[in-house]
Amino acid sequence: MNKETLKKNLREIPDFPKPGILFYDVTTLFKNPECLQGMIDELYEIYKDKGITKVVGIESRGFILGGALAARLGAGFVMARKPGKLPAETIEETYDKEYGTDTIQIHKDAIGKDDVVLLHDDLLATGGTMAATYRLVERCGAKQAFVNFVIELKGLDGRKAFPENVEVTTLLQL
Ligand code: 5GP
Repeated sequence: MNKETLKKNLREIPDFPKPGILFYDVTTLFKNPECLQGMIDELYEIYKDKGITKVVGIESRGFILGGALAARLGAGFVMARKPGKLPAETIEETYDKEYGTDTIQIHKDAIGKDDVVLLHDDLLATGGTMAATYRLVERCGAKQAFVNFVIELKGLDGRKAFPENVEVTTLLQL
């Protein structure tokens, strides 16, 4: 996927969700057929030979490409969600945010010891959300786990949130 095309189609919203924050709006990438297909194709090329058995998408923007990619790879799809959303027994991790903490959950039986997992979300900032989700996947005893984001905010050094041996890929670096 051409990075300039992605960049051109990514919408920037100043002062969202609060004053002083520049929000990168990926809905404009999802609604553009060329971008949507291009991102799925690129992800498929990166992960098609890794033996991925489950894709974990993080609520909610991680569900879009995560689900499409899982289907393309012939893998299963797992939702990582905020508390109170998943109906069966869950495991959870809590992580620090700029103000306070947040919690992420998956179903306890979502991932097993034979799974090779790809964790996916739309954007890497501090890495806190993904690192917590990664810990959930580790706790399930997954054989191996890869990490991917559409966008990486390079200035925040979010890759440092993961163990050094974890392979992290991003489609667009800002
Ligand atoms: P982190 O945990 O890496 O600090 O923050 C990443 C999480 O916050 C992701 O789940 C991502 O969806 C969301 N997020 C933070 N900033 C932005 C942004 O500018 N645009 C989008 N689309 N998501 C963001």
